[in-house]
Amino acid sequence: MAEISEPLENYLKEIYELEELKGHARVSDLILIFGVSPGTISSALAKLERMNLVTRKDRKINLTEEGRKLAEKLIRAHRLSERLLTDIIGIDWVRAHEIAHRLEHVWPDDVLERLDEILGRPRTCPHGHPIPGRVEKVEGFKLSEARPGKYRVVMIIREEEWVLRRALELGLFPGKEVRVIDKGKIEVDGKVHELENALAEQVLVNGTE
Ligand SMILES: [Zn+2]
Ligand SMILES: [Zn+2]
Repeated sequence: MAEISEPLENYLKEIYELEELKGHARVSDLILIFGVSPGTISSALAKLERMNLVTRKDRKINLTEEGRKLAEKLIRAHRLSERLLTDIIGIDWVRAHEIAHRLEHVWPDDVLERLDEILGRPRTCPHGHPIPGRVEKVEGFKLSEARPGKYRVVMIIREEEWVLRRALELGLFPGKEVRVIDKGKIEVDGKVHELENALAEQVLVNGTE
């Protein structure tokens, strides 16, 4: 498998996550996420294209077979690192995500495999994102679209610091039941909270059975 630099690895991973959410990535998404210039993104994409890791068509960016394999390896390492940090080491999921960004690049395959085994082969990261290959399809809708009623949290969509911090404050963890009282008002664990729309847009929920 191709050896590529850490910044290029980060682009691959981000494209994978955008594909997961919307089927493809766009240059504008990457500019927003990485906060770099369009020129920087184009030259990175050109490199990834030359390495046969991504394709660009009609302004849509997708991973090739090999690009996907590489991205999955990194994502698996990221999500298992987060599990290690939250479940075993016991730190909050904001820091876990931050530290996992560094750890994801360092695990040798056999050590990662051992980690996976020790963790009991989890299906998702603490934020609800699937370990590649373990969840068929993530089903749900945004909390911002939910009518009054009871729902269950499936995933925190974008693992951005402010999103994770706020979701942590409100106790919005995957598996947790949340009751929508009205637009902008929810109840979690018997406590009523104001829910800002920007956060509601980042929480994926499902109906309760
Ligand atoms: Zn993360
Ligand atoms: Zn995560």
